[in-house]
Amino acid sequence: MTDTEINELEKRLKPFQKCKTPQYARFQYKTSDCTITAYESGKVVFQGSGADFYDSSIKPQSKSNILPQCGSDEVGTGDYFGPVVVCATCVKESDLKILSQLNIQDSKQLTDPEIIKIAPKLMEQLDYSLLVLENQKYNKVHQDNNMNKIKARMHNQALLHLLKKTSIKPAQIIIDQFTPERSYYRYVANEPEIVKGIHFETKAENKYLSVACGSIIARYTFVKAINQMSEKYSFDFPKGAGKTVDRAGFEFIKTYSISELSKVAKLHFKNTDKIKELK
Ligand code: MG
Repeated sequence: MTDTEINELEKRLKPFQKCKTPQYARFQYKTSDCTITAYESGKVVFQGSGADFYDSSIKPQSKSNILPQCGSDEVGTGDYFGPVVVCATCVKESDLKILSQLNIQDSKQLTDPEIIKIAPKLMEQLDYSLLVLENQKYNKVHQDNNMNKIKARMHNQALLHLLKKTSIKPAQIIIDQFTPERSYYRYVANEPEIVKGIHFETKAENKYLSVACGSIIARYTFVKAINQMSEKYSFDFPKGAGKTVDRAGFEFIKTYSISELSKVAKLHFKNTDKIKELK
């Protein structure tokens, strides 16, 4: 890294624990899952389980963690059972210290118990906006909107709510990309208000803190919703959309009814036909 980049990096690392400076180094900082050492040569080393994440997120030249930033992600779109959840969060400089203690990384790599531990702390710390589209409503909305349009409208709404709620003007707004930018804006074209200037990037939950946090809160909410459904029906709803799901769907309509299925599942998935064919 250049001198300027290293100085910039140190500014960003200020909230973290500074270590005794090793030989030939300018500085060394420790977060909960990463040690960052900047050498006099300009070489900067990220070590530890969080290294990939910090390497791509804290490095100033990657421009990927300009703060304050707002970002959103969604959960449940690949699951036959359960709602679609979108969460947008706002991350500011002053949130960094707490985020570094929470081991924020790709929510897909976190286990459910880890999600359940981390998410409430994020919800306490951050400004966020959370939208849950329950199955019954989803199935109704899906008659006139495809899944991507539903997602786009939810992201737009979540970001609008968040921007109204937070006093902060974000330097960056990011959506974990699920459709090209042009299609996104086509999907939201008829919305009364549209958030503009969004940066779209795939796998953004690995690179942008605000998207990572949104992803964790969304998944936490999804897990809670599935647990509530399980309690209500005394029934285990598997995740995903594979054969286990077909089998479970078949058991479900045997115990309840096909019309009840519309309250727990996304009916347009191919699973619905397969469930009807099972005997
Ligand atoms: Mg995503």
